[in-house]
Amino acid sequence: MKIKDFNNLRPSDRIEHKHYGHCAVQKFIPDFGPVIQPLTHEGKMKLYHHSAYKGGRYGMPLLENSYRMCQPSAAPYLPIQTCRICGCTDLDCTMCIAITGHPCHWVAPDLCSRCAPNSPIS
Ligand SMILES: [Zn+2]
Ligand SMILES: [Zn+2]
Repeated sequence: MKIKDFNNLRPSDRIEHKHYGHCAVQKFIPDFGPVIQPLTHEGKMKLYHHSAYKGGRYGMPLLENSYRMCQPSAAPYLPIQTCRICGCTDLDCTMCIAITGHPCHWVAPDLCSRCAPNSPIS
C-alpha cells in the first residue's frame, strides 16, 4: 500500500495487516492513520496479546500509523458480524461498553455475549 492509498482509507474499507490479517477500517484520524479492527479471531487474539500490557482488551481496535503494515485487501469482504438482539457489530460495540463497561464477544455468529442467556458477562 502506498502512502497515498493509506491516507484514502475510509470507514468499512478492508485491509490486510501484516500482523493482524484481515481488518476493517473503523475510522481515519487525519495526520495519524486508520483505526483498524481485526475481523478474525486469530487477529483479535494477536492484537489482544500485543496490547494486553497496555490495558487492551479482546476486540479492541488499533490505531495504525505505519502504511507499511497495511496491504490492500484482496480477500472477499467478510460480512461484518451483527448481534441479532442489540445490533452491535465488530465495528461498533459502544452500546455494550456503555452498559457493561467492556466489549462483548461472539457466542454465536449473530449473538453477542451481552445478549446471550446466562452470560457470565451481563
Ligand atoms: Zn448483543
Ligand atoms: Zn457488543
